[in-house]
Amino acid sequence: MALEVIRAFSREHVRWLESLEEYALRKVKDARVRRRKEDPAARKLHDAVIRALCDADCWMLCDCLPDGLEQPVIVPGRGRRSMRLGNLPDASVPHAGNCVFRLQHLQGASRFFFNPLSHERDVEASAERDLEHKPWSGPGRSVPVVAYMLKCFIREARLHTLAGVERFPSPEDWLAELRRAAVAFPVAPGVPASEVLCTAPASWHSGEFRERLDERARHWPKDPPPCGYLCWVAHDVEGHDINGRTGGAGHVRVTSPVVSREIHTNRVEGPYLFLGALAQSADMHGWECRMAYAEPIAAPELPIPVDSDYERQALLSLARLVEDLRRGKELQEALGGVVRVELERPLFPIRVRDGRCHPDVLLTVSHPDGSFDGSDKVRYVIEVMGMGNAEYEKKKEETHRLMKRIGRVIRLEGRQFGSAHNGLERQRDRIARQISKDLLWRWT
Ligand SMILES: [Zn+2]
Repeated sequence: MALEVIRAFSREHVRWLESLEEYALRKVKDARVRRRKEDPAARKLHDAVIRALCDADCWMLCDCLPDGLEQPVIVPGRGRRSMRLGNLPDASVPHAGNCVFRLQHLQGASRFFFNPLSHERDVEASAERDLEHKPWSGPGRSVPVVAYMLKCFIREARLHTLAGVERFPSPEDWLAELRRAAVAFPVAPGVPASEVLCTAPASWHSGEFRERLDERARHWPKDPPPCGYLCWVAHDVEGHDINGRTGGAGHVRVTSPVVSREIHTNRVEGPYLFLGALAQSADMHGWECRMAYAEPIAAPELPIPVDSDYERQALLSLARLVEDLRRGKELQEALGGVVRVELERPLFPIRVRDGRCHPDVLLTVSHPDGSFDGSDKVRYVIEVMGMGNAEYEKKKEETHRLMKRIGRVIRLEGRQFGSAHNGLERQRDRIARQISKDLLWRWT
């Protein structure tokens, strides 16, 4: 048995801890429990492992209970002074009596809830900067937390992959999927985010959803505070308003300015998918949207997040690239079947040797006789290039060096998307040929 690394909240298997990593974690914990002197080498590895787990949003399952039983969850954390491990607050499964990880519950339970109103990450980060500072004191102060939560919902619903979004004929369908995904994220003990998430503007405007929130708030656990979420397509975002100019799309007035993605102070154009955080108003007689984040998406029918208008054009067009690769006669005949193609827009940076990078698009092609162990997969990184100045190129060169560890890097030249000789369609067709050739070379 060994410690298993799992994804936070959804508890998906990620990997098993290496024995040396596990040794370091146990050694440091043991020294702490027995109040003995720490081994500096073990401490160094211990901190590196926990830092990586934090960065990747991962937890661990202990292995102290007999096989076949549900195992307790160990949570990595960044303390003020050092990296540490603790246990989920109010965890349902306790460790075995002799387990070295059984002691210490992490303080600040709010960090383990998807509750934007009390997120320890922010509290802790701002506390380090300024002890007097409360996360709520500035307009839009905690918005990055909402952005992070929206991305987690999107990832859990797999809306960032083409294979995922292709299943949905309309925004109502993929919003329903997002609601189902929100079950994995508790906003308070025993309250999944799905219970306080509204994806239907009509229900918000009629007051029906507010009543439901009121009802839920009456039986709310002690901590963290009652909260709610609004989430649907935003066609326009301006100041404090969402859909202020698009009648019938679900207008929301936010008490702080809506935050969205900007490139050199220019807001990326809509459509967006927004997530608004609801809190009880000061007089406790209503609910108000305290902060909101609007994530630009490719289209209402294709809710894959995009960072720029070039990326939006590229993603809308790459759906066709996936089709072309699947249907390609030459590939089918040579490989004796249809390849599986998955297009994914990574939502968080990917850790590779020597650093971290954030590719625009990952394209994974699997051999028709898939062995499912990964050896039959080829991965490509598609980068949508924007500006053309030397500084930008130099910075990109550096990140592309890291991306090559993930797969072959293919560039799309955004500034030429509209040109006659090298327009987007031509570039896409060229990529399709390039990838087919590469696959034939690898697999035949
Ligand atoms: Zn244990």
